[in-house]
Amino acid sequence: MKVLVAVKRVVDYNVKVRVKADGSGMDLANVKMSMNPFDEIAVEEAIRLKESGAASEVILVSVGVSKSEETLRTGLAMGADRGILVEVGEQAVEPLAVAKILKSVAESEQVSLVILGKQAIDDDCNQTGQMLSALLDWPQGTFASDVDIATPDKLKVTREVDGGLQTLQLTLPAIVTTDLRLNEPRFASLPNIMKAKKKPLAKLTLSDLELSEDIIQPRLTITNTEAPAPRQAGIQVASVDELLDKLKHEASVL
Ligand code: AMP
Repeated sequence: MKVLVAVKRVVDYNVKVRVKADGSGMDLANVKMSMNPFDEIAVEEAIRLKESGAASEVILVSVGVSKSEETLRTGLAMGADRGILVEVGEQAVEPLAVAKILKSVAESEQVSLVILGKQAIDDDCNQTGQMLSALLDWPQGTFASDVDIATPDKLKVTREVDGGLQTLQLTLPAIVTTDLRLNEPRFASLPNIMKAKKKPLAKLTLSDLELSEDIIQPRLTITNTEAPAPRQAGIQVASVDELLDKLKHEASVL
C-alpha cells in the first residue's frame, strides 16, 4: 500500500507574526518557516504504517514555492521515501486548488491512503482533506486520534468527538486527517538529515499534471487583517473574598 502525505510549508508555530501596516495580511519577510505541525503528525503516522509492514512506500507532496523543498527534505529525514514538489509560485493557493492538485498526484501515484493535517496553522481553513475526499469520492476519517489497518483493505480510524470517541471503518482507498493526539512526531537524526539530501525529489508544474493554471486563481479576497487586541494587565487579589467580589461585581461572571 502506497501512502501519500500532504505537507505544507507554513510560518513556524513559535514565530509571533506581525500584521502588515495596510492590513492586507501578515508580514512574512525573513520569518522562520517550518512544516505545518499537523503534517508532521501525518508524516509520523505514515512512517509508522510502513514500519509495521502495512505500507510499502511513503510519498510526500507539497504545493508551493521552490523553498517548500526544505519542508519535503524534513519529512524525508524523518523517514519518508520520496518527495514531490508541485511548484506554483508565490501566490497563496486556496484549499480547493490544493485538493485538485493532490487528487491528480494521488491518482497518478495510485496510492491507497492520503494523510493530511486537519488544518494548516497559517490559514486555519480545515478544508483540504474534506475537499480531496469529495473530489476523489473516497471515504474520509477526519481529526484522527488513532489509525489502525483492520484488514488489508480496511482502515480503522478513531476520532475525538464531543463527549467521547467515535470509531469508523473505512474501505481503502481513503483519506485521513490528523488530530494533535494521534502521535508524537520523531526528530530527524543528523545521519538521517544527511541521507535525506539524496532521497528522490521530483519537481512538477501544473502542466506536468495536466492541470490548468486557472485552478490556482484566487476565489477569495482578504479585505482586512487585524491583530488581536492587546491583553490587559492582570491584578493580584489579597483574599478569596476579594476575588469573589470582583468576579461578581466587576467581571459579572458569577
Ligand atoms: P487547510 O485546509 O488549508 O487547513 O489544510 C489542511 C491540510 O491540507 C494541511 O495540514 C496539509 O496536510 C494539506 N495542505 C494544505 N495546503 C497544502 C499545500 N500547499 N501543500 C501541501 N499540503 C497542503
